[in-house]
Formats: sequence, structure tokens, C-alpha cells
Amino acid sequence: MRPLGDLSAVSDEELYAKLGVTIGHEFSHAFDPTGSQFDNEGNMNFWWTGEDGAAFSEKAERLAAFYDGIQPWKGVNCPGNIVSGEACADLAGMKVILRIAAQKEGFDYDAFFRAYADIYMSVMTPEVARQLLGDQHPLNYLRINIVLQHFDEFLNLYDIHEGDGMYLAPEDRVDIW
Ligand SMILES: [Zn+2]
Repeated sequence: MRPLGDLSAVSDEELYAKLGVTIGHEFSHAFDPTGSQFDNEGNMNFWWTGEDGAAFSEKAERLAAFYDGIQPWKGVNCPGNIVSGEACADLAGMKVILRIAAQKEGFDYDAFFRAYADIYMSVMTPEVARQLLGDQHPLNYLRINIVLQHFDEFLNLYDIHEGDGMYLAPEDRVDIW
């Protein structure tokens, strides 16, 4: 068994999917409404212009509306306004790592996407899932499916087209960063 903390035998795809995407997610919080309140010294000092704030809000509202339209259960909608901040960071984390991956020769996208899904794969009772619906983070299956369907790298790799369940048309995607 690999000693805990020994990353030498971990593939780049797994590192990118599990550490890279997470680091990208956390970094992006510096550029969202939370990060807007702290300057580059870490002091509480709102640094966005009014224009910045308005542009971000417009996109964040689109993302909230997108999540509002998802029904994890019949008749129960995802609370878009609650999850939009974390959903935005999930998309940003994936986007930045895919840009880095594109520069890497022979990158195994299948291994990468599987390793990413592995982070959030979970089994839970309906009661627990309903409780988590009030959390700031989207439900685990949405953190996989919604994030991945936003990227051509995923759709093209698995030959996902209009009419397929995971397909999301470019005009329906929300691109914040
Ligand atoms: Zn976050």
C-alpha cells in the first residue's frame, strides 16, 4: 500500500482532478463576492468597481437561475441563490485545470474525468440528501454532472450530442470566468 502522503505514484491526471481542480476552486473565491471584500494584502478592503460587481452579479444570477431549474426530486428545485457561489467556483476550478491539461502532451482525459467524478461519488439516504440540499455546495452528483457538461473536452471525449441526457448547448452554458 502507498504510504499516506506519498504522491509519487499518483498519475498527473489524478493529481489534476483531485488537487488541481480543488486548488483552482479555492483560488477563484478570491475573485468572487467574498474575495471582493479583501485586497491583495488580505485586509478587508472592497476592491471591485461598481462595474465589476454589476458584471459579476449578472453572470451569477444566470448561474443561480440555471441551478433553480434543476429538480433533484420531482417537485423539488435546487436553491440556485444558495449554491451559485460554490457552483461558480466548481466551474472555475475545472476550467483552469482544463487549460493547463491542454498544454500537456498525451493527457488522458478519460482518467482525469473519472478521477474527478471519484471525488464526489457518494451514496446517501434520501433524508441526508434532502438535508444537504440546503447547503451552499450543490449536491454531489450535480458537482460532477453539471460541471462536466459545461466543457467541450468532456462532451467530445464521450461523444455526447444534442438529445443525450448530459448534453448542454453552448448557449445554455454559464461562463463566469
Ligand atoms: Zn468553495
